[in-house]
Amino acid sequence: MTNHQNIPHSAPSPSERAGVRLVVLGAGESGVGAAILAQQKGFDVFVSDFGVIKDVYQQELNKFNIPFESQKHTEELILNANEIIKSPGISDKVTIVKKIKEKGIPVISEIEFAGRYTDAKTICVTGSNGKSTTTMLTYHILKEAGFNVGLAGNIGHSFARQVAQQNFDVYVIELSSFMLDDMYEFKADIAILLNITPDHLDRYDYQMSNYVASKFRVIQNQTEADHFIYCDDDAEIKAFMATADIKSQKHPFSIEHEVENGAYLKSNNLMINLTKSDQFDMTINDLALQGKHNTYNSMASGIVGKMLEIRNESVRESMGSYKNIDHRLEFVANISGITFINDSKATNVNSVWYALESINTDVVLIMGGIDKGNDYSMLVDLVKQKVKAIICLGKDNKALHDAFEEHVEVMVNTFSASEAVEIAYHVAKKGSTVLLSPACASFDLFNSYEDRGNQFKAAVKEL
Ligand code: ADP
Repeated sequence: MTNHQNIPHSAPSPSERAGVRLVVLGAGESGVGAAILAQQKGFDVFVSDFGVIKDVYQQELNKFNIPFESQKHTEELILNANEIIKSPGISDKVTIVKKIKEKGIPVISEIEFAGRYTDAKTICVTGSNGKSTTTMLTYHILKEAGFNVGLAGNIGHSFARQVAQQNFDVYVIELSSFMLDDMYEFKADIAILLNITPDHLDRYDYQMSNYVASKFRVIQNQTEADHFIYCDDDAEIKAFMATADIKSQKHPFSIEHEVENGAYLKSNNLMINLTKSDQFDMTINDLALQGKHNTYNSMASGIVGKMLEIRNESVRESMGSYKNIDHRLEFVANISGITFINDSKATNVNSVWYALESINTDVVLIMGGIDKGNDYSMLVDLVKQKVKAIICLGKDNKALHDAFEEHVEVMVNTFSASEAVEIAYHVAKKGSTVLLSPACASFDLFNSYEDRGNQFKAAVKEL
């Protein structure tokens, strides 16, 4: 599974680093963090970004005397690198990356690079959905239990920056498949794989098997001493595991059946049974994160807590008190008996399924945006059961009309958050829920999913 390239197997010594040129492509949080760490370790560093580098990052690079270029890629300054650290947002298909690969220069991710310079324990979370929630919940459980723990990856400060500037004993790291793609020697001490459903297939030659293999890189290099926590109800995960030789200790979680050495549901209780002498149970009504999908997330995080021998009382307390991050099934307001929920982060069909599944009232669903080739068929049953109206919020809503027109009574096109909210409020009946859960990316009408969620919340507050 490991795709070894011609890269050093361990960190070079300081004298070996002098004169070794590291070029960082992309100057966002991960690129700038990597540049700071590389500079600190004595490499000859250069940062290049084809877009505009944000002012704060330009200032930081200047502060550390790190040379950089913005809005261009100068080939002479890049193709002379010994190694490239590439931002996960940059596709392998762009010209500069193709040229780098043609020249045979190794390309790694910021996580791979930072991993060479820390002995901290790493807990890595991946999956198609639920990564941020599970990463944050795991971090919360560890922090509340008194661990010296850092939060890294897709959230907050980059791993590399923290390795350079902090001294944590443990990291909880959110990993997207793009980050995993450029990881080779890095090893997670504890790996979590939440689920695998189609997403980002455009970056994987439209081959689901490529995407699945990418997700499974989270366990590459693991040995018998390491741990793999995974969803035992996920067909893609099970199919891959049936054919793979996995060395790590396995910890399944399931809401469908009892498991050993993992987590499962017994009546209304979340059970964790890593050892015979220390069994954990908690009623799911007490979990801060409600809904089936969140039960899975809580199971994965709870297993980590118990693996690190945190007391049951403390794990229960943390799983009961956690406050979820914004834009994930976030309660906004109840106005005249109508509940408004912001799930703007739901950018694929699967997360909309879980959102609808978790709501027990009639729903007015606001959805749409940039469709990444969605197959909406899995939503049809839930839409028929619960959705009374669909308010499309996107420039091109044809795919939504094709998928749902015959299943809901009302479908309306809108082009701004305020228009969508006003119409939703109008058609929603007392006791029902207006849910923004778009299944699509936001860039046609908004700057980001956060912008979309914030505009939605602001419009609700205006009602
Ligand atoms: P990610 O970081 O993987 O994008 P988030 O935690 O930000 O995941 O949640 C993204 C969306 O997916 C939200 O709409 C959320 O309600 C939904 N979601 C969260 N956990 C899961 C899960 N385990 N399975 C399916 N959907 C989930």
